[in-house]
Amino acid sequence: MGLNTTSQSIPVNHPVSLRQLYTLESDSETHIQTVFERARAVQPTIESLSPEERIEYVMKIKDYVIANREVLIDRIVEETGKSRFDAFTSEIFEICDVIEIYKKKALALLKDQPVPTPLVLMGKKSFIIPQPLGVILVITPWNYPLYQTLVPSMLAFLAGNAVVVKPSEQTPMKGVLEDILEKSGFVKDAIQVVYGGKETGTQLIDQRPDKIHFTGSCATGRKIMEHASRYLIPVDLELGGKDASIVFGDVDIERTANGILWGAFTTAGQSCTSIERLYVEQSIFDTLIKEIVRLTQQLKVATTEEDLGKTNVDVGAVTAPFQVKVIEAHIQDAIEKGAKILCGGKCVEGSQVFMPTVLVNVNHSMKIMTEETFGPVLPIMSFQTEEEVIRLANDSPYGLGGSIWSRDLKRADRVARAMKTGNISINGHMINEANPHLPFGGVKESGFGRYKGDLGIWTFCNMKSVLVDKQSPMIEAHWYPFTLSKYKLLNTILDSLFVRSKKWPQVIKAAMQLDKIGRKEKY
Ligand code: NAD
Repeated sequence: MGLNTTSQSIPVNHPVSLRQLYTLESDSETHIQTVFERARAVQPTIESLSPEERIEYVMKIKDYVIANREVLIDRIVEETGKSRFDAFTSEIFEICDVIEIYKKKALALLKDQPVPTPLVLMGKKSFIIPQPLGVILVITPWNYPLYQTLVPSMLAFLAGNAVVVKPSEQTPMKGVLEDILEKSGFVKDAIQVVYGGKETGTQLIDQRPDKIHFTGSCATGRKIMEHASRYLIPVDLELGGKDASIVFGDVDIERTANGILWGAFTTAGQSCTSIERLYVEQSIFDTLIKEIVRLTQQLKVATTEEDLGKTNVDVGAVTAPFQVKVIEAHIQDAIEKGAKILCGGKCVEGSQVFMPTVLVNVNHSMKIMTEETFGPVLPIMSFQTEEEVIRLANDSPYGLGGSIWSRDLKRADRVARAMKTGNISINGHMINEANPHLPFGGVKESGFGRYKGDLGIWTFCNMKSVLVDKQSPMIEAHWYPFTLSKYKLLNTILDSLFVRSKKWPQVIKAAMQLDKIGRKEKY
């Protein structure tokens, strides 16, 4: 079957006004093939750069992002519909922070990593060489279009790989990444962008990249893993979540209510680790809910395109039109099962701006408490005991993040350990993500693999194991011929070395004898 040379037109609309911004032409399969040829051609050049030189290239990207931040924010805001403040903190600031941290971190992580060598391998040396994998395919979602495309791509590049990145067709930000790469003076073809939807994603996998780094929904994650399994391509899957936030009765109400509000409504609830369900201890339930509702009603919500240009607007739009339908369906299901809306609950007419919503009388028979809503919706349930709330928090197929609020740090620590998630913040939500030294990723259906932290570089490496014998005169015990005397001596070593109180003299004596036998008993 020949390659598909046709392209598909995808409209990209403004999420607030619904006006069409432009039409995205998806790249053809022939183009994708060329992109991979270029990536494979440039990869040895990237590998030949020293880590210091690669870091310098990444620093150029940071300089460009800093110098052009307002223009970049304009594009992010226009395509995602998120507030300007959100775009600044969670994309521009975060990108700069990650680069700054890896400027120091990458050097240490890309060096040969020495490891101990056990006594039975006396005289030898062992180490790990972090080497590039080849070409990394990065596939990204719509919610952080600059951060999600740039950060994994740069980390993969730092590890010496070439990168092909496919942004979401909902927020492709056509031309932005290319501009950043070209105008910052980045290595040509080291990071290339391919546009299109799910068909383009599958065509990219058919090019057999050496690894896939995927961020997106669980449903797509499953498909990608299935497809990658045909070629045995390794995958990192950063998938969805249903993060629980737990508030105990001893908190500072004002601080906690403000923190919860941000955790639930930042980027209009479209963070994979947004607060998707809140559990509040019965003793403060009414007081905290009252404060949360009061604050929610004061949030400045963008209702026009112009609003999004302002720095004092708190909440923007839901980016994808189909996500609005999911949010509405979850709310409808909850109401039919007895939930009560305290504020919000609907879209601003003629837009994808969903009013920040607080719900009570909810339970785990409702989609709003069990499936990813991915919108500015905060369902709240009460609890009585620590055991009960741990059970509720873990009653989910997801395991991405979560948070615990309490003055009792011992209790918070206990609950953090008991929650089956990849990430936790205590007395804050998503604050763990602000520290690039911490690895990020999920468990259960939220995926696997970690990025950021040390693994942020190593996930893109072939961690090659090497053991060196300097041509010692020793004849190895496990080499041929196998004889009874060698067998007996190995038994002596096992008995002396692996018993609880080791008998070193016997081990060393037996090892020397093995060498002698090895020289005598030979073919
Ligand atoms: P999505 O899964 O619909 O799409 C993500 C990307 O996959 C897009 O680029 C899309 O074109 C591509 N794609 C779709 N089908 C494909 C296929 N069969 N083969 C190859 N590529 C394919 O996700 P979304 O709706 O864009 O994003 C929202 C989801 O992302 C939410 O579930 C959210 O929780 C999750 N997310 C997770 C993290 C994380 O780090 N864990 C971060 C952000 C978002």
